[in-house]
Amino acid sequence: MAKKHIIIAPGDGIGQEVTAVGKQVVEKVAATFGHEFTYDEVLIGHVAIEAFGTPLTDESLEKMRESDAVLFGAVGDPRYDNDPTAAMRPEQGLFKMRKELGLYANIRPIKLFDELLDASSIKADVLKGADILFFRELTGDVYFGEKGRRNNGDTAFDMAEYSRYEVERIARKAFEAARTRRKKLCSVDKANVMETGRLWREVVQKMALDYPDVEVEHQYADATAMLLIKAPRRFDVVVTANLFGDILTDEASQIAGSMGMLASASIGDGTGVYEPIHGSAPDIMGKGIANPIASVLSAALMFDISFGMKAESDAIIQAVDKLLKDGFRTRDIADTATPDAKILSTEAIGVQLLKNI
Ligand code: NAD
Repeated sequence: MAKKHIIIAPGDGIGQEVTAVGKQVVEKVAATFGHEFTYDEVLIGHVAIEAFGTPLTDESLEKMRESDAVLFGAVGDPRYDNDPTAAMRPEQGLFKMRKELGLYANIRPIKLFDELLDASSIKADVLKGADILFFRELTGDVYFGEKGRRNNGDTAFDMAEYSRYEVERIARKAFEAARTRRKKLCSVDKANVMETGRLWREVVQKMALDYPDVEVEHQYADATAMLLIKAPRRFDVVVTANLFGDILTDEASQIAGSMGMLASASIGDGTGVYEPIHGSAPDIMGKGIANPIASVLSAALMFDISFGMKAESDAIIQAVDKLLKDGFRTRDIADTATPDAKILSTEAIGVQLLKNI
């Protein structure tokens, strides 16, 4: 029996809908395995701006810092997306959480459940067996570098910056993970045009000497975008910078069938945050059709990575597997190849998952 305190931070839009299911699954697993979990809910994003005038209060942040893990949903609201002059944005809450909790590694497993082979827009024979583990750096790059306007506002700039230690710590996580898998690491950069890319490559090349058992390759980000779709099975562990990781993992979500299937873990040296890779999806918010599986699989990562509870984590993955084998789908992963699919609402998928645990 273990005691854990978990912060639930659903955020905006479908973040609230999918995190509700994620939390139910955590509660069921904790009860089934005899753990004693306590929970506290905090606001982040647009909902926090409305309530407190800031996208993440220091008090909420402190609660996160003191917890054993955070189950996060998504932030974002169209009111800000279409207003480039907005002084405050929901995403600032997300960036504050990442920066203040020192979450420098975003881990995104990309694995296709066999039942979804035909749900992807990529051919099944290209996809079958693809199993990629992405490490996206999370605290550097254009997201946090100097940004601004000059030339009377007609010129804009975003500075990409990386320090040696920042590349080293994410690369080390990726090398270590490769050792437990197929021992292949692909480091992605733009060393041909970017100085940050040249530093990135230099650091990874040097570190490779410490990991003679891991086969290392260096790819440019543009080539990687092409290879992910052309030959996804060739990748094992991939490590890359913040912006490339953002783009490439959205692309790779198609390998897993849908954005609604991809989970992630953001970790540093303290509390870890577990979150779907998708956003607040305002186009489907409130309709009850959001796929909660990414949130549920994020909870599985939480059990595995933050709590070291592999059996509990596997119980969740098996519950998802059974759900799909039984033919249950949300709309985003139903396809013409499964005409018998039983299309369920977000909530009803949750009910089935709880039965499977
Ligand atoms: P999005 O991920 O919200 O949605 C992209 C597309 O995928 C939409 O068509 C959406 O309906 C679909 N989709 C996403 N998740 C789904 C799910 N669980 N089930 C079914 N379909 C799903 O990205 P976007 O539309 O570019 O952005 C919407 C808002 O979210 C923006 O404000 C953006 O800034 C924000 N955002 C937040 C995060 C985050 O909080 N981590 C990440 C990405 C985008």
